[in-house]
Amino acid sequence: MKDQLNRPLRDLRISVIDRCNLRCQYCMPKEIFGPDYPFLPPSELLTYEEIERIAKLFVQLGVEKIRLTGGEPLLRKDLPLLIERLVPLEGLNDIALTTNGIFLPKYADDLKKAGLKRVNISLDSINDELFGQMNGRNVGVTPVKKGIEAAKKAGLGIKINMVIKKGMNDSEIIPMATYCKENELELRFIEYMDVGSTNGWKMKDVITKREIYNQLQESFEFEPVEADYFGEVAKKYKYKDSNVVVGFITSVSESFCSSCTRARLSANGHLYTCLFNGNGHNIRDFMRQGATDTELLEYIRTIWRNRQDRYSDERKEEATTSRTKVEMSYIGG
Ligand code: SAM
Ligand code: SF4
Ligand code: SF4
Repeated sequence: MKDQLNRPLRDLRISVIDRCNLRCQYCMPKEIFGPDYPFLPPSELLTYEEIERIAKLFVQLGVEKIRLTGGEPLLRKDLPLLIERLVPLEGLNDIALTTNGIFLPKYADDLKKAGLKRVNISLDSINDELFGQMNGRNVGVTPVKKGIEAAKKAGLGIKINMVIKKGMNDSEIIPMATYCKENELELRFIEYMDVGSTNGWKMKDVITKREIYNQLQESFEFEPVEADYFGEVAKKYKYKDSNVVVGFITSVSESFCSSCTRARLSANGHLYTCLFNGNGHNIRDFMRQGATDTELLEYIRTIWRNRQDRYSDERKEEATTSRTKVEMSYIGG
């Protein structure tokens, strides 16, 4: 029997690690996330047992969908074992993974066997040189393309995430749309957001959904697609001459806080009720001190009931510097 909360809680993102093998400039600028950056030591990370226990409680509170993320989640050892633990949770309808795709050739089959249905793979450019500059490690497009192929071959559903930043990769909107259409991949354009405080975000760097859509319309014809469920974040269209879908995540230009049903759990077990909140609630320590399931449920329920977040609705240009916010690589998007 599911709890009834004042605001629905449907969706949980779990970051399993804060480290990454890339340094995308809009997420983990290499000048800040250098060799001395104090990433979480293994003892600070939630164990798979702990993640399973917390996930089970969230499902009791109404969560139907879990997304695993990071940092780069496939850097966490034996990730398929975590998926195997989550799949049987009664009431959980969907488990997804967001990854940069580089390790998918190694793990796609095991992930699928463990019960994973779909992956979101991040790819911000189809141009080797530009992609290498953007990811800060000179990694070309080929490893990600191989990851996409491996996911396809394993039978996983795939969406491609592309963050657009003005002057960085807006020249790649049409080439990426063309590549994804030709390869029957759903592409999601994500407006560049002011997550964390290390990426130097400025409103003038954002390219809005409207601008992206206008550009696309010069080359393609679209028709709108209905949202699949309440709280679906992407605004979707399909090409008129194919069934391939294109989505937009309009966090900046058309915020959607009033339908936000998402909680986030960091790799060290802190609960965040908003992507732009700097204050997590330390579930891990409460649990490690011996809290019972009933106590944990009450703790989470109270936090969610008191949630007032509507950051994107209230966003102003200057807000980004005046507030402490959690880093994207720590909370996972
Ligand atoms: N490493 C994995 C990946 O890249 O898919 C998972 C973690 S990454 C933080 C999750 C998603 O957040 C990626 O699609 C990434 O492009 C997106 N992201 C990171 N920083 C962002 C920003 N400032 N604005 C919008 N999206 C961002
Ligand atoms: Fe790593 Fe993903 Fe952030 Fe890029 S977007 S630095 S791949 S966590
Ligand atoms: Fe949800 Fe916060 Fe994003 Fe608004 S700003 S949609 S409350 S995560």
